[in-house]
Amino acid sequence: MTSAESSTHTDLLVVGAGIVGLAHAFEAARRGLSVRVVERDERPVGASVRNFGHVCTTPQADDDYPLALDSREGWLAMAAATGIAVAQEGTLVVARRPEELAVLEELRCTRGRDRVRLLTGDQVRERIRGPRPAGGESATGGALLPDDLAVDPRTAAPALAERLAADGRVDLLTGAAVTGAGDGRVETSRGTFTADHVVVCVGHDLDRLFPALAQQRKVRRCALQMLLADPVDGYVNPAPVLTGTSMLRYGAMSATDAAGALRRAIGAEQPELLDIDANAMFSRRADGGLIIGDSHIRAVTVDPFLDEDVYRPLLDSAADIIRPAGPLRIRQRWQGVYATSEDTNLVHERIDGATTVAVVTSGIGMTLSFGIARRTLAGL
Ligand SMILES: Cc1cc2nc3c(=O)[nH]c(=O)nc-3n(C[C@H](O)[C@H](O)[C@H](O)COP(=O)(O)OP(=O)(O)OC[C@H]3O[C@@H](n4cnc5c(N)ncnc54)[C@H](O)[C@@H]3O)c2cc1C
Repeated sequence: MTSAESSTHTDLLVVGAGIVGLAHAFEAARRGLSVRVVERDERPVGASVRNFGHVCTTPQADDDYPLALDSREGWLAMAAATGIAVAQEGTLVVARRPEELAVLEELRCTRGRDRVRLLTGDQVRERIRGPRPAGGESATGGALLPDDLAVDPRTAAPALAERLAADGRVDLLTGAAVTGAGDGRVETSRGTFTADHVVVCVGHDLDRLFPALAQQRKVRRCALQMLLADPVDGYVNPAPVLTGTSMLRYGAMSATDAAGALRRAIGAEQPELLDIDANAMFSRRADGGLIIGDSHIRAVTVDPFLDEDVYRPLLDSAADIIRPAGPLRIRQRWQGVYATSEDTNLVHERIDGATTVAVVTSGIGMTLSFGIARRTLAGL
């Protein structure tokens, strides 16, 4: 190998600097591999910075659950190694209907009482508002899921990219669009690179690089509407908050016997939430700002126009729990997009001897990222 060739060759090459790609880079560098990350943008601006920052471990089902538990260990190891903040406050699930309590009781039976701590309405209110006289009034009970983690989505992936590049373990090449990858060779707008192994972590743009695979796995795009609200005086809960519609989405809750009755109850009382396919939830940034979402629309090509009517039920749901003194003050609105598939939550497969595709096809990529990376590296 000439020196020019060796400077373009690494043990691992990762396409995409979202959280899935960066988790691969982190785990590979930890194992002493030389790593190059190739990203078309200047910095991560994809799904990994547009989400709630919720590492939602306990509600995952089937194969996703052990993967999520392993991923949780990965997040904590990354936090210890880099100093990037990962909060261990769990998830607060707020129940406002008997059907929601029934789902949580079933979840406790499958996960155990240490992993699903049922709360009374008063205990939920204490967590939400501290000594404040309003907030949490609508809660009839709930649960704390202590294993769940939270990060600041705006800063976690960019900070990880910076740390990896700064300590010299990872060559981060930004502004380089990958146009083709296979057999250890990657063509980019800034030249050709080779690696013993290539991991393709391009999220919802899988169809741009591997259209046949995307079609075979029925990968489409899912577009979500999100909001950032100003901090609310007296709202003290640091944990992400899930509600009834969340219970219809995450596998370990949506598979409960009680979930069918819950869907009917929401359909009868708040059909507007089902109309926008909501996961009405929110999380809190370090400055107290509240990330509120979300709605879902699936298509190969998503409509870029954001419908004002979609925000109302999401804001109402959050305000019903938070009970701010006045209306929530909205600071920002944005659209997030992630990969989705009706067949699978994860496309994780070797497409040739030196190329693996790792794309999460559900809204749980923050949750699974480090677990997927560990699994890829264990298979090399
Ligand atoms: C609104 C919203 C809320 C969500 N909430 C949560 C949550 O709370 N918890 C959770 O677990 N998950 C959540 N998700 C899902 C999660 O954000 C995604 O599954 C995850 O971020 C996917 O990470 P990624 O690295 O695969 O994709 P991305 O972050 O989209 O990164 C892919 C990267 O690949 C780059 N790329 C693409 N094509 C090329 C190319 N040809 N050449 C070079 N670079 C390329 C892109 O520029 C991008 O930087 C949410 C998603 C959204 C949109």
